[in-house]
Amino acid sequence: MLQTVAAFDRIGEENAFAVLARATDLAHQGRDIINLGIGQPDFHTPEHIAEAAVKALRDGQHGYTPATGILPAREAVARRTLATTGVEVSPDNIMILPGGKPTMFAAILMFGEPGAEILYPDPGFPIYRSMIEFTGAKPVPVPIREENGFAFSAEETLSLITPKTRLLILNSPANPTGGVAPSEEIAKLVKGLEAHPQVAILSDEIYDVMTYDGEKATSLLTFPEIRDRLIVLNGWSKTWAMTGWRLGWSIWPDRLYGLVRKLAVNCWSCVNAPAQYAGIAAIDGPQDDVEKMMRAFDSRRRLVVEGLNGLPGISCLTPKGAFYAFPNIRKTGWKAKELASALLEEAGVALIGGPDFGVLGEGYIRLSYANSEENILRAIDRVGDFLAKNPR
Ligand code: PLP
Repeated sequence: MLQTVAAFDRIGEENAFAVLARATDLAHQGRDIINLGIGQPDFHTPEHIAEAAVKALRDGQHGYTPATGILPAREAVARRTLATTGVEVSPDNIMILPGGKPTMFAAILMFGEPGAEILYPDPGFPIYRSMIEFTGAKPVPVPIREENGFAFSAEETLSLITPKTRLLILNSPANPTGGVAPSEEIAKLVKGLEAHPQVAILSDEIYDVMTYDGEKATSLLTFPEIRDRLIVLNGWSKTWAMTGWRLGWSIWPDRLYGLVRKLAVNCWSCVNAPAQYAGIAAIDGPQDDVEKMMRAFDSRRRLVVEGLNGLPGISCLTPKGAFYAFPNIRKTGWKAKELASALLEEAGVALIGGPDFGVLGEGYIRLSYANSEENILRAIDRVGDFLAKNPR
C-alpha cells in the first residue's frame, strides 16, 4: 500500500474548476449553458501583449531565466507599482511567478505549521484555507459581512489575533464579494497591528485596478510601517485577461525574498521567458484594451445588480470591484449550493454556491459577470423562471 502524507488529505479545491468541468460536459452533451461560474475575463489578451511573447520566442527567448524573473520584468512591475500606488519598490524585492497562486502557496508555507494560526477572509478565495490546512496551521476565518459592505472590520480582525497568529491574509478588491475595503478601515488595522509585530501580512491585490464608480483600492504598500512584514500578491491574470499565461508577481520584504527565491528554484525554476516579455508589454504598452474591458464590466455589473434585485427573494449589493456579484438568496428558501447545482443541471446557468468560499458564504451565490450582456440577461431570466417554478 502506498502511504501518502496526511497533509494531502487536508488539501482542498477550488470548486469553480469543478463547476467549469461540469458546465463544459453539459455543453458537450448539447445543452445550452451560460457560464457565470469561472473567474476569468471573457476577453482576448490584447494583441500587442501576445505579439511580444511571439517576438520573444522568435528571438530565441526560450531558456531558463533567473528564478526571481528577468530584470526588465521586475523593473516594469516596479514602474507599475509606483504608478498605481505612489510607492517606490526595488526590483530586488519583486518576484515573478507562474500566476498569483504561487505567492499564496509560498507565503502560507512560510508561516504555516502545526501550532500556528493564520487569519483569512471568509467568504474568500478558497485556496487560502486549503493551503493553511495543508500546512497543519489552524485556519482562523475573518468574517466578511454584507452589512459591512463586504469589507473586513479592523476591530474584529484585530480581536482574532493571538500570540500564535503568524500571518493575516487580506484581499481587496475581493473575490467572491466584489467588496473594496475602505482606506480608513485599513489604516485602523495597520495601526492595531503595531501591537502584534509577530504577524506577517499577505495582501492579495490581484484586482487592484478593477474598481468602479471612482472607487480606488488602497494598497497595503502605502503603509511604510508594515513594509518589513508585508507580502503583496498581484499579477497579470485579471487586469490584462491573461489567466492561462500563468504570470504573476509579488513584492516581498528583504528577509523573506531569499526564501521565496529558493522555493522557486526547488519548485518551478522560473516563469517561461516569452510570458515575462508579454508581461512587460502589458505594463508598458497602451492600456486602451484594459479600459475597454473595465467599461464593459461596469455596464454588465449594473445589469447583473438590477436584474438580480428584480427577482423575488434575492437582494444584491452593488459590487465596488473585481467582476463578481454576491447576491443574498436567503429569502428564496434555497440552500446556496443546492441552488447552484440545480441552476446548472436544470436551468443551464453555471454559478458558484457561497459556501465554496467559506462557511459565511451560506445564503449567497457568486456570479462572475465575465460574460456578454445578452448572456447575463438570459441567465437572470432563467434564474427567475427556475425560482418561480421551484419555490422552497
Ligand atoms: N487571488 C484571488 C483573490 C483570485 O480571485 C485569484 C483567481 O481567481 C487568484 C488570486 C489567482 O490568480 P492566478 O490565476 O493568477 O493564479
